[in-house]
Amino acid sequence: MNYLSTRGHPDRKRFCEILLEGLAPDGGLYLPDEYPQIDSATLAKWRSLPYAELAFEILSLYIDDIPPADLKAICAKTYTPEVFGTEEIVPLRELEDGVYLEALSNGPTLAFKDMAMQLLGNLFEYELARRGAELNILGATSGDTGSAAEYAMRGKKGVRVFMTSPDGRMSPFQQAQMFSLQDENIHNIAITGVFDDCQDIVKAVSNDLGFKRKYRIGTVNSINWARLLAQVVYYFAGYFQATASNDKPVSFTVPSGNFGNVCAGHVARMMGLPIQTLVVATNENDVLDEFFRTGIYRVRAAADTHETSSPSMDISKASNFERFVFDLVGRDAAKLRSLFVDELGGQGRFDLSGDPAFKQAAERFGFKSSRSTHADRLATIRDTDKRFATLVDPHTADGLKAAREHLAPGVPMVVLETALPIKFAATLVEALGHEPARPARFEGIEALPKRVVKLPADVEAVKAYIAQNCD
Ligand SMILES: *Cc1c(COP(=O)(O)O)cnc(C)c1O
Repeated sequence: MNYLSTRGHPDRKRFCEILLEGLAPDGGLYLPDEYPQIDSATLAKWRSLPYAELAFEILSLYIDDIPPADLKAICAKTYTPEVFGTEEIVPLRELEDGVYLEALSNGPTLAFKDMAMQLLGNLFEYELARRGAELNILGATSGDTGSAAEYAMRGKKGVRVFMTSPDGRMSPFQQAQMFSLQDENIHNIAITGVFDDCQDIVKAVSNDLGFKRKYRIGTVNSINWARLLAQVVYYFAGYFQATASNDKPVSFTVPSGNFGNVCAGHVARMMGLPIQTLVVATNENDVLDEFFRTGIYRVRAAADTHETSSPSMDISKASNFERFVFDLVGRDAAKLRSLFVDELGGQGRFDLSGDPAFKQAAERFGFKSSRSTHADRLATIRDTDKRFATLVDPHTADGLKAAREHLAPGVPMVVLETALPIKFAATLVEALGHEPARPARFEGIEALPKRVVKLPADVEAVKAYIAQNCD
């Protein structure tokens, strides 16, 4: 399997070459040069597989530069009931007639990002050992990504994590999750500033190519193909749990920010998994909903990006969206470049409303969308508690609301549960007047000793800290 860049760079790469990379050299995103096709006999064979084996079967189609026995061992070590809480790994439950919740949030940090990041940690350790190399992961987080990365990389050989976060701006629970890690290879850096300051610092460090090379700086952001690939697996697992045979279509609703999660659904559908509709659920930051309604993709300025109660979906642009648009325009790299480099780079928007390709988003690729507000989230959390005695987090609530707007008779609708409510306790308290229950292993974590340094929003200070801690 070879990987190409959405922007037309002539090089083709193998999986392990792009594993530790971010963007392609021309600024594009990596995609496989074709989607492997799954026939009905293969689906039937996969239906009864345990999750780790299903993961191995799917990953094998995209990874041919890791010996199968090694890849199988990596999958087996990653997807265990000890780490993810159940034998099913992603158990499905019916909430009401035809509406299901797929639990993706029972991993170490209680958000779906663990599903991919746990695999990435094991793949990184494997590949770095094979190369005799080291990697220093530098990131910026306002919550879910940073903690998932730290729990995936803690104690891994060859990897250090330097994770910046805005000082005092994460929820106490999320802070405690990250700062209580005592592993030597995990470095929490609280920046006196806001999330954008953290992101600017990461960008500035990465743009200093000399420093980047010398200290082997890498990232784990959501454009990493391996993360996306790992997420493809739970669409198959959700499908099998929602159906008894492979002739039944299923729809998925996906709380979306950077379009990584739902893009994995798109890949599963392109492989031939019978997915009818992919509903993109957004909050007030509705760049994606706007595109799927109008054909206009208009990125927002920082000042127009709202801070909402589903904060992991607070995005100004959707960094994985380019992957889908590449397929949408028939994999025409020149057209893709004119949209993302010329138009988006120039005017901050592109307009496909008059382009025949836009109609394909719904008709051929099955995409629909909805938008929710804070009031919708509170109402959905209350309603779900009252009618089904089930607590959902604000992101999953955005999903549930969107799902109900796109139900089709006889087609199961699977809503991806992207976090557990305890991670966003303040909004649950606002909706219900009480805190959600917390898993026993997180009892009292706010009181644990914290491992964190506080630094000013200054690139040089962060560089100096990295240099000091890299020996
Ligand atoms: C990251 C995240 C999302 C958004 O996922 P994308 O892949 O960026 O679309 C939604 N909900 C939660 C809880 C998240 O952590």
